[in-house]
Amino acid sequence: PQPNPQVGAAVKAADRAHVFHSWSAQELIDPLAVAGAEGSYFWDYDGNRYLDFTSGLVYTNIGYQHPKVVAAIQEQAATMTTFAPAFAIESRSEAARLIAERTPGDLDKIFFTNGGADAVEHALRMARLHTGRPKVLSAYRSYHGGTQQAINVTGDPRRWANDSGSAGVVRFWAPFLYRSRFYAETEEQECARALEHLEATIQFEGPATIAAIILETVPGTAGIMLPPAGYLAGVRELCDRYGIVFVLDEVMAGFGRTGKWFAADLYDVTPDLMTFAKGVNSGYVPLGGVAISAAIAETFAKRPYPGGLTYSGHPLACAAAVATINVMEEEGIVEQAARTGAEIIEPALRELAERHPSVGEVRGVGMFWALDLVRDRETREPLVPYNATGEANAPMAAFGAAAKAHGLWPFINMNRTHVVPPLNVTEAEAKEGLAALDAALSVADEHVVA
Ligand code: PLP
Repeated sequence: PQPNPQVGAAVKAADRAHVFHSWSAQELIDPLAVAGAEGSYFWDYDGNRYLDFTSGLVYTNIGYQHPKVVAAIQEQAATMTTFAPAFAIESRSEAARLIAERTPGDLDKIFFTNGGADAVEHALRMARLHTGRPKVLSAYRSYHGGTQQAINVTGDPRRWANDSGSAGVVRFWAPFLYRSRFYAETEEQECARALEHLEATIQFEGPATIAAIILETVPGTAGIMLPPAGYLAGVRELCDRYGIVFVLDEVMAGFGRTGKWFAADLYDVTPDLMTFAKGVNSGYVPLGGVAISAAIAETFAKRPYPGGLTYSGHPLACAAAVATINVMEEEGIVEQAARTGAEIIEPALRELAERHPSVGEVRGVGMFWALDLVRDRETREPLVPYNATGEANAPMAAFGAAAKAHGLWPFINMNRTHVVPPLNVTEAEAKEGLAALDAALSVADEHVVA
């Protein structure tokens, strides 16, 4: 498409005048005006094109504007754009069936929401009603969404300003060997000590007061920390022993991101409730939901579930989910994610880590990778302090600017960059992005202490 700076300027001016942006000091941001997007790329009105290594906010798992999904949305819009949630609707029934067929174990009933945070809200409400218990245990270094309960179970700094109404939420440390809270030196120690810490937390909180433990199967924005072998099975066992509902949040990790349909498949674990959103339809139309076990569904078999949404199972969003899941099957996109991750992304990131002293650790799986950037590899001091802003965050800002100057739009959170492109990124695109990352890491290297 032809650059059109005049239109871009008008888009930007109306944005600055009237759009109130998420998580931001409104006068300190400078949003890029985006003219279009296709596949793994988007472009602005000045003719600059970016390779999107963020998949939006880690949700465009099939890339932008997949023609089959766009066509399915158009077709659904032409036949039944919307319909109220109390009715049986073809696209809703089909989306629920396709999702339930892929979720682990007996998670066979689907409650649809508008996104991830409200899926978490409803999962925790279901857990409290099912057990009759008040408390929820959640992990530090986690993100579960921006609504009141979801932000209160979140374990990153976005929670701090939102802590009113957090009654009944208790946080614990989940395993993360590279920055171990347990003085562990091996994954086995980290796993055993994290489970011991969780069980002690349960005992001191009072097992009969705890409705749910919620964890991201693989924590996403907080740093892509793969749980060590045995951890999730251990949490499952603790939940069974103490009658606690196990909630896995797969909003970011689900729908192919880890090279499996769900990250739970990597660990052979079945939760009682599983939340999803994002990749379910690549975010083409807002959609999330909760997959519900037989036992919890039974609680609400004769007793009404006290919760709902006007747009629960919105036909347009569900048609997008049906088309997305079918496209992922037809094009082998989940397998492609596993393959591209193992054969291209992982070896390239490990090679970058050898050459760039700012890379402290490379970790991830599938198309879900983090580079933990450090000032000092020995001490593992992060490249910028935890939750740094302004001048203190300058090294990460410089890294980000360098990536963009090389045509790569990077995902950055605190001292990390995440490599989370669409699952169907081509080999050539992946290599192009990795080359830009190489150049940007040279800028990060300048902040390493000698
Ligand atoms: N849970 C996880 C693991 C997430 O990563 C997110 C969003 O990034 C959410 C929940 C919240 O989802 P949403 O922004 O759709 O409300």
